[in-house]
Amino acid sequence: MPDPETRLEELITRLRERDHRLTPQRLAVLKVLAASDGHPSVEQVYERIKPDFPMTSLATVYKTVTLLKEMDEVLELGFNGGSNRYDGNKPYPHPHLVCTKCGAIEDLEVDALNGIPRQVAQDTGYRIVSHRLNFFGICPKCQAEGA
Ligand SMILES: [Zn+2]
Ligand SMILES: [Zn+2]
Repeated sequence: MPDPETRLEELITRLRERDHRLTPQRLAVLKVLAASDGHPSVEQVYERIKPDFPMTSLATVYKTVTLLKEMDEVLELGFNGGSNRYDGNKPYPHPHLVCTKCGAIEDLEVDALNGIPRQVAQDTGYRIVSHRLNFFGICPKCQAEGA
C-alpha cells in the first residue's frame, strides 16, 4: 500500500493546483481517504471525522468525496444494495477482497493479477480503460465468529 502520508501530500497538492479551498474539515476527509483503512463509505468517513469536527455535515463529506472522484483521485467501489465504498490511497483500478458478511474490503496484492489488464488488451485488441476485479468470500474474522 502506498504510504498514506505521501498520498495525503499528493491529494493536498492536487486540490491546491485546482484552487480548491483546504478547510480543516476537508483535510480530515483527505486524511481518512489517504489511509483508506477498509475502504470506507461516505458515512464511515463522516463517523470518523465527527469527533474532531462535530459541526461537519454528511453533505460536506459527500461533496469532498465527489470532488475527488471527479478528479480521479479516489476509486469508487459500488455494490448492489450497499453504500459505495472508496479507496483514496490507490485511486486506480485494482483487485479487492470483499467479505459478504461484514462488508470488509481489502486490497488484494497478488502479483499474477496485475498482468491481467495487459493480457486482456493483448488477446482482444481492446484498449482497456478500466476494470473491476473483486473476490467475494467470508473473512477470517467472520469465520471465527461463525465457528
Ligand atoms: Zn467479515
Ligand atoms: Zn482498494
